[in-house]
Amino acid sequence: MTADHRLPLPKDIGTVIIGGGIVGMCLAWFLAEEGAEVAVLDDGRHAGTIANAGGLHVQMQSRFMRLYPEMVPGFEQTLPFYPRAVEHWRRIAVRLDEDIELAVTGGLMVAESREQYDFLAAKCRRERQLGLEVDMLDRSALERVAPYLGPTIVGAELCPTEGKINPLLANQAVRRQALALGVVHRTETRVTGLVRSAAGFAIDTTAGSILAGRVVIAAGAGAGALSALLGRPMPVRAEPLHMNITEATQPFIKHMVQHADRQITLKQLAAGQVVIGGGWPATLVGPDAHPTVEIESLIGSLSLAQHVVPQIGALRLIRTWAGVNTSVDGRPVVGDVAGIPGLFFAIPGDAGYTLGPLTARLVADAMLGRAPEMSITDYSADRFG
Ligand SMILES: Cc1cc2nc3c(=O)[nH]c(=O)nc-3n(C[C@H](O)[C@H](O)[C@H](O)COP(=O)(O)OP(=O)(O)OC[C@H]3O[C@@H](n4cnc5c(N)ncnc54)[C@H](O)[C@@H]3O)c2cc1C
Repeated sequence: MTADHRLPLPKDIGTVIIGGGIVGMCLAWFLAEEGAEVAVLDDGRHAGTIANAGGLHVQMQSRFMRLYPEMVPGFEQTLPFYPRAVEHWRRIAVRLDEDIELAVTGGLMVAESREQYDFLAAKCRRERQLGLEVDMLDRSALERVAPYLGPTIVGAELCPTEGKINPLLANQAVRRQALALGVVHRTETRVTGLVRSAAGFAIDTTAGSILAGRVVIAAGAGAGALSALLGRPMPVRAEPLHMNITEATQPFIKHMVQHADRQITLKQLAAGQVVIGGGWPATLVGPDAHPTVEIESLIGSLSLAQHVVPQIGALRLIRTWAGVNTSVDGRPVVGDVAGIPGLFFAIPGDAGYTLGPLTARLVADAMLGRAPEMSITDYSADRFG
């Protein structure tokens, strides 16, 4: 029961999970509670899990639709994952030893013009066809549910199943569950070599070598390089992003708020701080570097936040940071791989923190020989050839 990187690695173990983000740690927990011997290896370089904003997303994010229009069919296909993913967070939250501030208080995507409102109305119609619970609110309806919005907002799409969570609490609580079940967690341990042989997987790391019967690649943006080691390269993009948090104030923002056409996502934590992001860029100079903040993103995101919610203008910024998001093709990569027995992928799609526990559950069930609660056949790494 330890996460100390100074301890030696076991020589061999049943399952190695590469990547100790929300997916890797949930998966380790779910496998260990079924009696599996699991080691999680993590190099601690850049993870979405330690940098994310804790938004529980369900409706399609206009940011992704604008940035990657070619991926919209993929987003639509994976839409059913999101309400289930929030449900999974609810399920695990009650099993954790600490309140993780999970609140399903709804999400608003706001419009400032007729054109933006019409875009949202069309999105809303399509999402309803695909089974999502969403509604359009005009300004007078918005006044009643979100009086904190600025005067330029003309309407919004409301998704009542969206919400928020405090990732700082959730990450530690999930990790404690895994460690309590005997999971070996090695930090500052980078996997540099991965070879499949008749005996299993020979894994080289910066802390020594280890043999494993099964390997799960849950390495976020590192999954591209790892999959290439096994001759199955995947088109994984590292997307460096900017975040801010204000000082605490009295609760006044109930929803997670996004914009139909501009880069903003904001929400208020239970302790009163407002978390402001929305996909503003950060800088990543190379795969081994840490991401750094850009002043333009800081100014741009804060100006926009106070435009959408004017009361934010009175709050002081207490911290700003950069993190690395993972983007593949808008869809998760989960399950086993043809021709490499014992290898599994566990990479969530967009809004990967929302999808984390569900992704882990689906992969755990596949590894345990159970039918996953949703079909994962369309999400195999085999689609990359
Ligand atoms: C700024 C920001 C805000 C975000 N906000 C939200 C949000 O509000 N809601 C939401 O749903 N999602 C959000 N996301 C996305 C979300 O955080 C990620 O999709 C999610 O955390 C991915 O989890 P993961 O476990 O798959 O991967 P990660 O958390 O990225 O973890 C992967 C781990 O693998 C390790 N690794 C990689 N290669 C190797 C290797 N060779 N050897 C050993 N270890 C390795 C990495 O160091 C890392 O620790 C945000 C992301 C960012 C960057």
